[in-house]
Amino acid sequence: MTADILTTDQIQAIRDRVADLMPQVRADLERLVRIPSVSAASFDQSQVARSAEAVAELLRAEGLDTEIVVEGGRPAVIGHIVGPEGAPTVTLYAHHDVQPPGDDADWDSKPFEPVERDGRLYGRGAADDKAGVMAHVAALRAFKGELPVSVTVFVEGEEESGSPSLGTILDRHGDRLAADAIVLADSGNWQIGTPALTTTLRGGVRVIVRVQTLDHSVHSGMYGGAAPDAVTALIRLLGTLHDDEGNVAVEGLDEGVAADLDYDEARFREESGLLDGVSLIGTGSILTRLWTKPSITTIGMDVTSIEKASNTLAAKAAAKVSMRIAPTQDPKAAFEALKRHLESHAPWGAKVSVSLEELGSGFAADANGPVYDEARAAFADAWGTEPVDMGVGGSIPFISDFAARFPDAAILVTGVEDPDTRAHGANESLHLGEFERVCVAEALLLARLGARQSR
Ligand SMILES: [Zn+2]
Repeated sequence: MTADILTTDQIQAIRDRVADLMPQVRADLERLVRIPSVSAASFDQSQVARSAEAVAELLRAEGLDTEIVVEGGRPAVIGHIVGPEGAPTVTLYAHHDVQPPGDDADWDSKPFEPVERDGRLYGRGAADDKAGVMAHVAALRAFKGELPVSVTVFVEGEEESGSPSLGTILDRHGDRLAADAIVLADSGNWQIGTPALTTTLRGGVRVIVRVQTLDHSVHSGMYGGAAPDAVTALIRLLGTLHDDEGNVAVEGLDEGVAADLDYDEARFREESGLLDGVSLIGTGSILTRLWTKPSITTIGMDVTSIEKASNTLAAKAAAKVSMRIAPTQDPKAAFEALKRHLESHAPWGAKVSVSLEELGSGFAADANGPVYDEARAAFADAWGTEPVDMGVGGSIPFISDFAARFPDAAILVTGVEDPDTRAHGANESLHLGEFERVCVAEALLLARLGARQSR
């Protein structure tokens, strides 16, 4: 065990220090939330520039050598501060851009005017991910400029737009971002009171499948009954993607088993809005189905709309299919498996073509070793309860980019979100009590990594 690396007094001192810092951290967070830094192209990009400036100012105030970096996309901020000689380097990641707010009418208060209600701070970016930015700043402030490790802070400006220039930033500035440990603070915790490290993310494959049965559309009264229409053929083809229990029926896909956490069917029904009487699909624990097994969803179709419908056998139809894949699965191999399945299961000899839209790698951390030991100890001290390993069913593309670019670094995926955060939705909010624990945990992690080195 590593419990003796910091004394109880040292741990308590960091807790007290962070508690003293929280009012200013909160005020700075609110200032960031008031800047509508939506990175989507249809929004005013001068706001993203303003938020990059505001973040740079916060880092400079903590003594970091700070630069705003633009490599063909939105501005990112990189800051660095040197720790004691021989101390490890820790890179802290967050992003300062936000999702569009959606319709103001769906919010109970204005998205860019932060407001506290019942211990939560509401506002777009109040959690995702401006609280991630401020957790890093709080951890820096906890040491009053005398950091126990060298720290690089990297705050991206286009995560919510898919990080288009991240690859170039990593190419051109990667040597400044390299570290022994990389903390990516853009995920969350298991539930209020239970911290988590996110150790797996599913990858994704998106395809368009096109089906053709006729040279041209024909009258259903004259040819229906003998000639197959493309819409029915497509629907039957899509129907082969699952077995009767709702498991993905495509051969050649990986699957794993998720950590054994308490997550029952009632909670899943409540959180997902599943209707009474509608059964769950798939087999295995619910978390295994959500985090480590593949899933397939038809997310769009090109067929004649009801409004424009006539008595016609359609010659062509198409569907966009989204497949989530196990964290360890190679996305190219998964695409090939899906393509093979679609091409070989066409009913009635219908012509099928499958085109690739997008591939995304998953992530499976090697969640062992000294950095993970110190992180788990830091989380346990901050919350008073051991952290759990959790998965995320969606993908966070930049995480696999970092993992691929820095194969020797320990990658820790942390964050401020909880099940009620509603990141990306209306009424996004941050649980302020959990936020303080996130800040304490990050400060403790830096202290532990420094203490471990100097032993
Ligand atoms: Zn985020």
